[in-house]
Amino acid sequence: MLDNCPKCGSLFVRTQFRDVCEACYKEEEKLFEKVYAFIRRRENRTATMSQVVDATGVEEALIIKWIKKGRLQLVHFPNLGYPCEKCGATIREGRLCSSCISGIQKEMTKIQQEEERQKQAKRQTTYFTERRKDD
Ligand SMILES: [Zn+2]
Ligand SMILES: [Zn+2]
Repeated sequence: MLDNCPKCGSLFVRTQFRDVCEACYKEEEKLFEKVYAFIRRRENRTATMSQVVDATGVEEALIIKWIKKGRLQLVHFPNLGYPCEKCGATIREGRLCSSCISGIQKEMTKIQQEEERQKQAKRQTTYFTERRKDD
């Protein structure tokens, strides 16, 4: 699919693996090498996102992209992560942090219970109405 590169605006062929043009891709690769060379060092394994950004000058969004694509494996870097899509807390897998997930689950349970309650109430009303008809 022909598309404009989100970085420099030039036309390129977008694929599953390529979301920027050739020139920007090469540029990103250079930045990736830089980030990777930094965090690979033993003393930097425990660096946080802001420390990596400060040390390499590479923007956080790019680093998050690599994490999400699995190029940077978080198992090796205990303090790296990316923001939860709902509240912005640092997470290391999925799209939401655990408190947002349990919040959503609670919300779902509440909705289900409410639906169940309304169904019951309706059933009872119907029952009583039918009884009254028979009298
Ligand atoms: Zn480009
Ligand atoms: Zn959250």
